[in-house]
Amino acid sequence: MSDGISKHYPFAEIEAKWQKIWAEKGLYNTDLNNTEKKLYTLVMYPYPSGDKMHIGQWYNYGPTDTWARLKRMQGHNVFFPIGYDSFGLPAENFAIKHKVHPAVSTQKNIEHFRRQFKQIGSMIDWNSEFATSDPGYYKWTQWLFIKLFEKGLAYRKKAPVNWCPQCQTVLANEQVIEGHCERCETEVTKKDLTQWFFKITAYADRLLDGHKKIDWQAKTITMQKNWIGRSEGSEIVFKEEKTGERLPVFTTRADTLFGVTYMVLAPEHPLVDTITTPENKQKVKDYQEQARKVTEIDRMSLVREKTGVFTGAHCINPINGDRVPIWIADYVLLTYGTGAVMAVPGHDQRDWEFATKYKLPIKPVIVPEGKTEVDISEHAYDEYGIMINSGEFDGQSSANGIRNVTAKLAGLGLGESTINFRLRDWLISRQRYWGAPIPIIFCPDCGEVAVSEDKLPVLLPEISDFRPTDEGESPLARSTEFVNVKCPRCGIDARRSTETMDTFVDSAWYFLRYCDPNIHDKPFNPDLVKKWLPVDFYVGGAEHAVTHLIYARFITQCLYDMGYVDFDEPFLKVRHQGIITSGGAKISKSKGNVINPDSFIEKFGSDTFRIYLMFMGSYADGGDWDDSGINGVARFLGRVYRLFEKHLDIIKPAKNLSYDRIIARDDELRYYLNHTIKKVGEDINSLDYNTAIAALMEFLNILYKRSDANDESDLFKYSLVKYIQLLAPLAPHFAEEFWSQIGYDDSIFNSSWPSFDPQALITESITMVAQINGRMRSSFDVPNDISQDKFLALIKGDERIKRHLEGKTIIKEIFVPGKLANIVVK
Ligand SMILES: [Zn+2]
Ligand SMILES: [Zn+2]
Repeated sequence: MSDGISKHYPFAEIEAKWQKIWAEKGLYNTDLNNTEKKLYTLVMYPYPSGDKMHIGQWYNYGPTDTWARLKRMQGHNVFFPIGYDSFGLPAENFAIKHKVHPAVSTQKNIEHFRRQFKQIGSMIDWNSEFATSDPGYYKWTQWLFIKLFEKGLAYRKKAPVNWCPQCQTVLANEQVIEGHCERCETEVTKKDLTQWFFKITAYADRLLDGHKKIDWQAKTITMQKNWIGRSEGSEIVFKEEKTGERLPVFTTRADTLFGVTYMVLAPEHPLVDTITTPENKQKVKDYQEQARKVTEIDRMSLVREKTGVFTGAHCINPINGDRVPIWIADYVLLTYGTGAVMAVPGHDQRDWEFATKYKLPIKPVIVPEGKTEVDISEHAYDEYGIMINSGEFDGQSSANGIRNVTAKLAGLGLGESTINFRLRDWLISRQRYWGAPIPIIFCPDCGEVAVSEDKLPVLLPEISDFRPTDEGESPLARSTEFVNVKCPRCGIDARRSTETMDTFVDSAWYFLRYCDPNIHDKPFNPDLVKKWLPVDFYVGGAEHAVTHLIYARFITQCLYDMGYVDFDEPFLKVRHQGIITSGGAKISKSKGNVINPDSFIEKFGSDTFRIYLMFMGSYADGGDWDDSGINGVARFLGRVYRLFEKHLDIIKPAKNLSYDRIIARDDELRYYLNHTIKKVGEDINSLDYNTAIAALMEFLNILYKRSDANDESDLFKYSLVKYIQLLAPLAPHFAEEFWSQIGYDDSIFNSSWPSFDPQALITESITMVAQINGRMRSSFDVPNDISQDKFLALIKGDERIKRHLEGKTIIKEIFVPGKLANIVVK
């Protein structure tokens, strides 16, 4: 059986043959000077960290290659480049494990990846290729650092930072997932270290505004918005009663100021030691110790139980002079806002839980509009309303109260309106070897001095022991030759920075380099970048929503402000592929569930493997890898192969048949032909590969029926020719082979995507009903085969339905084909 399947058609010869011909002809080399209908199609470049491309990476590149091929056949001038994110921990850890230098293992891994990309049969323009660990590339990553440094956007400060004990390096906040290292999943701890930061917070508003210009998935934009976390509010100053020290807090709800019953400081707040009373010293100290062990992400978790201790100190509420006890609790972060919060347990659920646990008073100061009381015995009332128990402000709405309370405090010098962000600056220094050295020299007299541009790149030193040190010092410090230099400004003995940059700096600008990857006197070719950028279509993992996809936008905006590029959003359209799991779990070496694409390609061929990956499920959702289905796809291509083999003789003379000249009274075949052309084009375009493939399978059954009935009509022959074109983006080698066998001289990828005849698609129309909560609200005349998605989109856009949905939550949507849709709302 397995033999029968593996010989479903001679894929090995076909695939090798066309890969060779495509390369020889340079079929996929893009003419970058021709920008007519340009389409810069990008996939997130791989880390060549393992020795092979894994299935998740294949899942990014294979289907996107299919999309790019469709667009090419539809007349676009597609640029589809590739490079390697070759610096960084995974590559370095691989090298350590295999006891080779990372430069050597990275080069080897890149060769494997390149071979695999060729095996996919991808339409990569190989003229674009580069690796970020090439000195010719990282020279310009260092240049970028210097440009930011000159603008005050790269700076050093001491801060409690995330430390991964396994990776032995610091991590940016974005690279800590639920308290664990993004790379190795080890629990992250805190260390006080002096580190380099990029001032991304200066771009917080720009990063939010830019969302309006780009076509990204809503959930990705929401993730970025939440990460940036802009909130408008007031800064209100409480004073510690004994010392008079100012304790500013940020709040979006100044209207609840009369309801403050306690204040909470972050355990690391600099005033804690000063204000804590002697009898509370020990328990405060113990709590501070304990808090240091908890990660920032855990501290921000909404579900974690809140803890805290009383300092014994009090502060004064500036609006009414109330004495307010001061606590410390680890859910307050020193790095967010002012490191102090006013607690209003009546109107904030987190404060309510804390107050309930520690038996602190809960005081109502807001009631719902039209009410005189509010029930806060079970939980806080956190909505807007009318102020009560608030002195002169009683009876004011929340919105007015926020404004008026803040204005009164401003008059007293104890408050002002302000904007707060959750976003922190991007920590970019790493204590590891395999990265771009930070191009800074520390001079005892001049301080931090940037290496001059003509001295770039600062090459990584050749050291035999490149493993990280236990003390958290960069291994670059082992090379005295590297470290000891003269100050470029004053000439005295100085020290080179020994840290390397986060690899997310490399990937924050790589897409600018592809147009001219070997340019040596500039980071990127400004003319070609002007012609080809921004990227039109970008596909990659959603896990990069608040890392790479924020960093790249920030760096692009910096380059725009400095006049290096003329656009400030790098990626116009971004889409994410789903995640492939194996046995229900994330694929990883440690779990032993890695799937090697090579063995499947060997057994079934690259085209079959590609189609199977796309057929497994919805591309946006991904799914669990199950190789049992691949036989079905192999059989499908085998059937296409046999059908074409059988009819080759009758198709050859029909290769130039024109649809307009075919007299087709054959409604069924005519409908299926045009329906399939339309559906495959639309579905691949929207990345709905699985339904495009299903349509081709269905159409194949119709063609077999005709074949069995010995159909020799022109329409049948024409349909077979078009079928091969429709299959081409999905099974490129297979389609190219038959295209050539039919007798075409040029590549199928230089042929035009078939157009469909809308006349052939007109189906009878019917009347369907739209209901809300089971009540008919309207009816619509629609095609009798209208899909659920289309019908629901149609009715939701209709005014008669819209007004019943406003302000409601959709609970359920019921669709009865040909009859009705019922939207259940609450
Ligand atoms: Zn780690
Ligand atoms: Zn100096």
